[in-house]
Amino acid sequence: MAEPIISEELEKKEILNRYRRLLKIAGPVLKDNDSKIIKQAFQMAVDAHKEQRRKSGEPYIYHPIAVAQICVEEIGLGTTSIIAALLHDVVEDTEVRIETIEKNFGTKVARIIEGLTKISGTFSYGSSQQAENFRKMLFTLTEDVRIILIKLADRLHNMRTLHSMKRESQLKIASETLYLYAPLAHRLGLNLIKTELEDLSLKYTDYEYYSFIAEKIQQTKAARNRFIKEFTTPIENELTRQGFKFNIKGRPKSIHSIYNKIKKQNIEFEDIYDLFAIRIILDVPFEKEKSACWEVYSIVTDFYKPNESRLRDFINQPKQNGYESLHTTVKSKSGQWVEVQIRTVRMDEIAEKGFAAHWKYKENVKVPKEVGIEHWLIKVRESLESGISNAEEFVSEFRESMLVSEDIYVYTPKGEVKILPINATPVDFAYEIHTQVGYTCIGAKVNREMVSLDYKLKNGDIVEVITSNKQKPSLDWLKFVVSSKAKNKIREALRDEQRKQALEGKSQLEAKIKQLGLEPSDEVYSDLRDFLGLKSIQQLYLRMYFGGISQSEFKRFNTRLKSPIKKEKTSIQDAKSFEKEVRKIRGVDTDMLLIGEDMDKIDYTIASCCNPIAGDEVFGFVTVSEGIKIHSTSCPNALQLMSNYGYRIIKAKWTQNKNLAFLAGIKVNGTDRLGLINDITKVISSDLKVNMRSFSIETEGTIFEGTIMVFVQDTDQLNLLMNKIKKVNGVYKVTRFQYN
Ligand code: MN
Repeated sequence: MAEPIISEELEKKEILNRYRRLLKIAGPVLKDNDSKIIKQAFQMAVDAHKEQRRKSGEPYIYHPIAVAQICVEEIGLGTTSIIAALLHDVVEDTEVRIETIEKNFGTKVARIIEGLTKISGTFSYGSSQQAENFRKMLFTLTEDVRIILIKLADRLHNMRTLHSMKRESQLKIASETLYLYAPLAHRLGLNLIKTELEDLSLKYTDYEYYSFIAEKIQQTKAARNRFIKEFTTPIENELTRQGFKFNIKGRPKSIHSIYNKIKKQNIEFEDIYDLFAIRIILDVPFEKEKSACWEVYSIVTDFYKPNESRLRDFINQPKQNGYESLHTTVKSKSGQWVEVQIRTVRMDEIAEKGFAAHWKYKENVKVPKEVGIEHWLIKVRESLESGISNAEEFVSEFRESMLVSEDIYVYTPKGEVKILPINATPVDFAYEIHTQVGYTCIGAKVNREMVSLDYKLKNGDIVEVITSNKQKPSLDWLKFVVSSKAKNKIREALRDEQRKQALEGKSQLEAKIKQLGLEPSDEVYSDLRDFLGLKSIQQLYLRMYFGGISQSEFKRFNTRLKSPIKKEKTSIQDAKSFEKEVRKIRGVDTDMLLIGEDMDKIDYTIASCCNPIAGDEVFGFVTVSEGIKIHSTSCPNALQLMSNYGYRIIKAKWTQNKNLAFLAGIKVNGTDRLGLINDITKVISSDLKVNMRSFSIETEGTIFEGTIMVFVQDTDQLNLLMNKIKKVNGVYKVTRFQYN
């Protein structure tokens, strides 16, 4: 894996070359003294990292130089960030102290590096509180937006060089990237970086699918380009005739977004109709932007009929991450729907580079302050400071808030604008105004009409909240609120309420226990909890509070307590033999998998959420009570597990044991005809001699869907089988599905 060893002399030369390239790219943004200070930072970094190497064997300094270059070239940052990027790992990994940096480069640079240092260890192995760490990290990140941006550049370079890492680190880093960093990049409008992070993550978590899609995109390229050419030529001619300066692009969507479509909508690559979008980029002065975009819209729709319901005007109403553009979907000559995005050079730059590009155009842009990134950061800080107790909830909601791309604008009766996520209700609005208003809202008037609390607000609505001191938040509200502020506050209130009820229940229980002639103690409580089959003491108190423990239950408990029976072990044995049975059925044996760094044969079980079979890419996950579970890397739970509990991931690899069989599920779609089932069964049982466990069919008219469970040795055999079934006359789709 190590790079070919080159002489120290050559290495020094290469370091200087890379540094000069950085300076050249940064050239246009540098002022007076800048290059002198940057050189100083570079020198310090070179000295500090002198003895270190990357996992690839290369000198460590290549990494900070590359990160600085990404900051300039791909994010559009300036001198302060270049310096901070060059030095971003020195405090963490070397002897250099933050005070030294502050003395040499000032407070700003020092604060940024301090922030980057603080968050760098958050996902390290052995740390048990991933979610809490996420929260800490976000807290640091919101201090100065440059910390996030440099962190993203750092992550991007690490993803680009991920091939030299160990397999389990690859999985951990890749899923963390998909879980947190790609949404962050999205939220900051860094579209190119977001897309690259997603695609690279997919490459390491589901390589097979990744390369499958990449290949398909390549194969269909010529046909696609022909189509695009034919589609755009008339538009191009007309734009030229009318004197527009423009550029037309037709790029396919990212591998990751195609992957999502295939997985979520369960369709095949060939069935994705919006594989690409046409982008028309206009070079016009700022004052003419809006009218020019609409003129072009009118030209496009002169040639092709638009689907009115797909018109999106992000020029009048930019997305929260600053995205501006005009989108329409039109019908091509061959009947295929094509999305056309119309925007200006400025809008395009903001769409791809996001936040940093905003600065460049700052004087010109009249983005309302509620829309800007600063406003978002303030909100993130607010919810961080509100001290919600459950960090995991917070993180998952924070992710959601980053991924929401559409917002609505609604108004108070006084005309003040509030921005809420799409599908927001009066309760979301109430919490947006003030927590207390949220707690006590009983209804709302929208445009002077009374509406229910779960009413979905629309753009431009004027909302007036009606409150009552007697009102309390209810569990039902959680079913319809969408903003994270409302969700968090409601949960918080419900928890408080429950705490009070539990306390009350506890004192009631105490009295009751005494009544039975027993001494209230933790032991009695936990016995009673087990007796009633409850999960926690808290639940026991609540059950008491709501009057859910009957006289006869108390009586039986009392008798049981006085004549204790030895706890029976049978249930555990049953579970064990059941487990064995299941293993036999699935053909899983400890000989099947090698686990861990030293690749030992260790006990494990196959996760029932994804049921991987030999040949699938898998990883081990150390559970608290059930030992090691083997998941497929494409398991629906994998992303969350790997990114939240990275330290519990261990690598796992199948051995070459061909004597075992795995249960796999196949779905077959086709048009029903006489003898079809027979033909499919024949392929399975006679041609390939695969053991079939079940075959069920649903037909609707002439449409047929079959669900087949088969025992196979591994993915090779399964794929062979699926390909054979696909060739059966009448079958048009064969897919594997995850059963549980
Ligand atoms: Mn780094």
